[in-house]
Amino acid sequence: MVSKKQVNKFVKSQESIQFYKKIQGALTEVLQAMPNEDFHKVTKNLKIISLQEGIIGQAMVFPNSKGKFKVVSIVYVPKIPMNVLKFIIAHELGHIHQGRHNTKKGENIYILEKHANKMAKKWGFPPTEKTWEWIFKYMKKYKIKWPKDWPKE
Ligand SMILES: [Zn+2]
Repeated sequence: MVSKKQVNKFVKSQESIQFYKKIQGALTEVLQAMPNEDFHKVTKNLKIISLQEGIIGQAMVFPNSKGKFKVVSIVYVPKIPMNVLKFIIAHELGHIHQGRHNTKKGENIYILEKHANKMAKKWGFPPTEKTWEWIFKYMKKYKIKWPKDWPKE
């Protein structure tokens, strides 16, 4: 497992979440659950871009990095249940772990989604019925339509 010091160093380096203790806490827990190898793979050159609901814009400037530049965006929803937030963070880091966000020719997007869910589950943050219920109810509030057959594990 990865050391607490390494995790704290990474979390501290993420300037976009400095005001959001809840996201810091969830991120710390997800990263601490990863094997060393997964931690280094997902955090290398990774920037998490986070905004609180209601905040419209944010600009950040980063120095050049070698290798793939990776970005994870998270909207900070103050009332989000902690287990839903941890699943979402783990799921997005699962996409990062896969190293791409585009499908190959003839490939279904659900393959990428299933991989992200599988990684979240591997790190100990599987979604439950209630997790999806909360997510779909939240999206409905913003009139976001989502496919009924979306992979839930
Ligand atoms: Zn996804």
